[in-house]
Amino acid sequence: MDAEVAVIGVGTMGSMAMWQLARRGVSVVGFEQFGIGHDRSAAGGESRAFRTAYLEGSEYVPLLQEAKNQWVELEKDSGSHLLTLNGGLMIGNETNPSMRNILQCIKEFKLDHEVLEGESARKRYPQHPLRSGELMVLDKQAGFIKPELSVLAAARKAEELGSKIYRYSRVESVSTHAGGVTVVANNQTYLFEKVVITAGPWLDYVLPNYKENFEVNRLLLAWFAAKDINLFTPERFPIFVRLNDEINLFGVPTLDGNMVKLAPVTGHGDGLIQDPDNVDRNVRVEDLKSLIDGVAKYLPDIIPEPIRVSAYMDGFTTDHHPVVGFAPEHENVVVLGGFSGHGFKMAPVMGKIAADLVINGRTQHHIQHLNPNRFTSAKI
Ligand SMILES: Cc1cc2nc3c(=O)[nH]c(=O)nc-3n(C[C@H](O)[C@H](O)[C@H](O)COP(=O)(O)OP(=O)(O)OC[C@H]3O[C@@H](n4cnc5c(N)ncnc54)[C@H](O)[C@@H]3O)c2cc1C
Repeated sequence: MDAEVAVIGVGTMGSMAMWQLARRGVSVVGFEQFGIGHDRSAAGGESRAFRTAYLEGSEYVPLLQEAKNQWVELEKDSGSHLLTLNGGLMIGNETNPSMRNILQCIKEFKLDHEVLEGESARKRYPQHPLRSGELMVLDKQAGFIKPELSVLAAARKAEELGSKIYRYSRVESVSTHAGGVTVVANNQTYLFEKVVITAGPWLDYVLPNYKENFEVNRLLLAWFAAKDINLFTPERFPIFVRLNDEINLFGVPTLDGNMVKLAPVTGHGDGLIQDPDNVDRNVRVEDLKSLIDGVAKYLPDIIPEPIRVSAYMDGFTTDHHPVVGFAPEHENVVVLGGFSGHGFKMAPVMGKIAADLVINGRTQHHIQHLNPNRFTSAKI
């Protein structure tokens, strides 16, 4: 055996799985086709939003609460500051389905929040003029995470604890058999007891049976200057999501004191990617038209001309919920994938769940809705 466990893909989830396994004394080898903390997949672009009142559904709230604890653990373990809880605003009409989900999370889990309307909203957050019928819900357990640094922090901590990472090493095949799991990479064959597959947009390259229920979307980020950047500091400008019939917009305060990151909400990809090895990273002005129009209309203190743009990608399942659990009919293969534009915030708890499944064969965390078995065609 080369180690107890192999982790295939040391990006967002893979780095966290390695860290969580290593801190529980498991020997781990990671394979990553690029360098650690690279920006060629799902984890680049300076910041990721963290939210607890979850527009994607209240079933995620316990996972998000534990994710917050695990972010704090990773900060302690690595000595890096990764998560800033400066609050999160959801802006829209009370009847909007996403707003309804958020209010449902707040009610069901008694989440710390404030509702702002009319004059109180205008005074507190003048950056977001409200339309008639709109309100703001401030989620106090929300903010932003530094993605590249987080991946590095987890991977480096895993290495410090004795794990090995093969960088620039693409896994060519994974096969399970009575003696364990064979992994081929670097023209070499390795043997492990178990594997965790965290290949992000390449999930169906490693597990071809996922093809039918899996696609890769291109996601764009853009940075804008402000008329007065002091209005957009983390202290004055919580992360936000604004959804209505006209726009879907999310934003993060300025982190460098010059630019504010604004983008379409990541559940709405910019287009399908046929091959994650050949992503078109050119961002054309047409690709950003609706974002620019939305910024001009809804954020009057932002100059609506992007001054930095980037294209990334993420793996999406057909129901936009990730797959987390044992690959169907294989107790030696744990899969974490298809995070559908909203996985980063959950990464350290997902790593913990991977470690639970590898070590104990089960987890106490609520992941029934993420069971890979729901895609019956994906059996391997
Ligand atoms: C632009 C953008 C904005 C986003 N905003 C948010 C947000 O605000 N909040 C939030 O929570 N989420 C957000 N997300 C979603 C989140 O970033 C992703 O869901 C998450 O990063 C996915 O993690 P992953 O581990 O599945 O993929 P990745 O982080 O891409 O990791 C997969 C890794 O596997 C490696 N790999 C693949 N195949 C192989 C192989 N055969 N051999 C070796 N290595 C391999 C890849 O190189 C990569 O490093 C956003 C995503 C994007 C793209």
